[in-house]
Amino acid sequence: MSGAATGQHEATLADLRRVTEAFWPAATAESWDRVGLVTGRDDRPLRRVLLAVDAVAATVDEAIALGADALITHHPLLLRGVHTIAEDTGKGALLARLIRADCALIAAHTNADAPAGGVSDEIARRLGLHGTEPLVQGAPPAAHGAGLGRTGTLPEPLTLRAFAELVDGIMPRTVTGVRVAGDPERIVSRVALLGGAGDSLLDHPAVRSADVYLTSDLRHHPAQDAIELARAAGGPALVDVAHWASESLWLEGAAERLAEQLPGVEFTVSELRTDPWDFAVGGER
Ligand SMILES: [Zn+2]
Repeated sequence: MSGAATGQHEATLADLRRVTEAFWPAATAESWDRVGLVTGRDDRPLRRVLLAVDAVAATVDEAIALGADALITHHPLLLRGVHTIAEDTGKGALLARLIRADCALIAAHTNADAPAGGVSDEIARRLGLHGTEPLVQGAPPAAHGAGLGRTGTLPEPLTLRAFAELVDGIMPRTVTGVRVAGDPERIVSRVALLGGAGDSLLDHPAVRSADVYLTSDLRHHPAQDAIELARAAGGPALVDVAHWASESLWLEGAAERLAEQLPGVEFTVSELRTDPWDFAVGGER
């Protein structure tokens, strides 16, 4: 509908696709990534949009209860080969419900990690880092200053314990909280960080030369190898937060930017915790 009577264009899914593509061009995603529209039709009206890290039953329920016309998630629902969307499969059940509820699904993943205001940039901003640069500068067509992860300097040096507390203060609550490998009294100033899973950059020179590396999903062996190397030859302390927590920080700014471009459309950020862990016992702090 063109809304000729009011002279106002009624937003459609096509408008949301145009704006998300302008903010997070698909061409800037990693080659293995699968971003953009997962399900939906361009000519459908767009009144309400929900943003979440994950497309899971809880956030699909939330989108449908909200009457959302689109759900934007950071993680692509369909990343690897899929041979069925039968409704007794996890992904099939979600897609069927979204389609029946006329709710589109859009993913903005590594294309939303890289730019200014992206996932890692937002973490760096909330930590108050100065002189931030990408850990890995993105290849064209990524803009200068866009790329994976960020490095930067704390406004003033902190003990590792105080840094971990600073991190804890900017993250939403999770079962696993903030886990740290390193001497709590160590002084840290230079920070390297990567929102989401960061194993792959443990050996990167900009990580190796930092005082601390903040990321998620560090597994036993890569973390242990990095700590032993740091003992022998110098290297960063490690700070590990829940994957969902680090990436959830991006949603609010993304919703604000989208709302500026699409006035009249209501953008809501999910407050559901889609970290897979529900509770823990027996930990020692
Ligand atoms: Zn992620």
